[in-house]
Amino acid sequence: MKAIRITIFSLFAVVLFSFTLINSASAQNGNVSRADQEDGRLRVIAVFAHPDDADSKMGGTAALMAKAGHAVKFLSITSGDAGHQSEGGGALARRRRAEAQEAARRLGIDEYKVLDNHDGELLPELHIRQQVIREIRNWNADVVLGLRPNDYHPDHRYAGVLVQDAAYMVVVPNVTPDTPPLTKNPVFLYMSDGFQKPNPFSHDIVVGIDEVLETKVLGLDAHVSQMYEWLPWVGGNLDEVPETSEARVQWMMDRRTQWSRVSDEQRSGLVKWYGAEKGNSFKHAESFEICEYGKQPTEEEIRKIFPMFQN
Ligand SMILES: [Zn+2]
Repeated sequence: MKAIRITIFSLFAVVLFSFTLINSASAQNGNVSRADQEDGRLRVIAVFAHPDDADSKMGGTAALMAKAGHAVKFLSITSGDAGHQSEGGGALARRRRAEAQEAARRLGIDEYKVLDNHDGELLPELHIRQQVIREIRNWNADVVLGLRPNDYHPDHRYAGVLVQDAAYMVVVPNVTPDTPPLTKNPVFLYMSDGFQKPNPFSHDIVVGIDEVLETKVLGLDAHVSQMYEWLPWVGGNLDEVPETSEARVQWMMDRRTQWSRVSDEQRSGLVKWYGAEKGNSFKHAESFEICEYGKQPTEEEIRKIFPMFQN
C-alpha cells in the first residue's frame, strides 16, 4: 500500500514538474495564452529579415509605443548568421541573438525573437509563411509592421512578401490550423525605405522621434557585430570606427542624426498628425505606409496605434 502511495505521489510530482517545464518553455517562446494578453494593451509586432532591421527603421517609434504601454515585439525571420566578414554560422547567430536581447532591453520593448532561418538565403516558402502566421497569431497582434518588397537585399524583399502573404491568412482557420486564428485582421503597416521603383514609399504616418533619438541609437549600439564591424567593413569605412564604447556611441549618434533628419514629405506628415506648431518643431522622424492588405484603419484608430500624436 505504501509503495503504491509513493508511486502515485512520484507520478503526481513528475506531471507537475513537466507542466511547469512546458509552461516556462512556452513563456520563453512568447507563446503566452491569449487570456494572459487580455490586459487592454495594444499588441504590435514588427517582422523583418535580420536582427537590427526594425531597430534602424523604427527603433524610435518602438520605444515611444512601449513607453505609451503597447506590447511591442520584434521578430527577425533569419538568424543573421551571414552578416559578418570573419564570423559566421551558429557562433554568429548566437552573438546576434544576444545583441538583439540587449537592444530590446534598451528600447524597452517586450520581446525580440530571432527565428532560425539562414541569413542571405531567405525565400518566401510555405513553411516560413507558416512560421510568420504562427508568430502573428500567438502575439494576438492588433498591428503588424513589415518591410516593403522593394529593396536591394533579397532577404528584405522576401521578408516583405512573407508578411504580405500572412496578411489575411492569419484569420483563416484552415490555414496553419495548429495555431488558433486571429478573430480580426490586424492593421498592416510598412516601415520606410528610399526605393523609388516600382513605386516610392508613401509617408502616410510620420512620428517625431527627437525625445527618443538617443534611445534609438543606444538600441543600435547593442548590435556591435553590425554597427561597428560588419556594416563599416562592407561600407569601406571600418577605419573610421572609434575604439572606445563612448566614442562609438557618439560616432553613431552623429551619423544617425544626419540620416533621420526630417524630409519635406515627412514634414507635411508631421504637421498633419501633430498640428503645425509641434509638427514643425521636430528634427528627426520615422515614417510608415498603410498596407492595402490588412484592416484599413480610420484616423481615430491610427491615433490609438500612435498615441504620441496626443501629447
Ligand atoms: Zn537587414
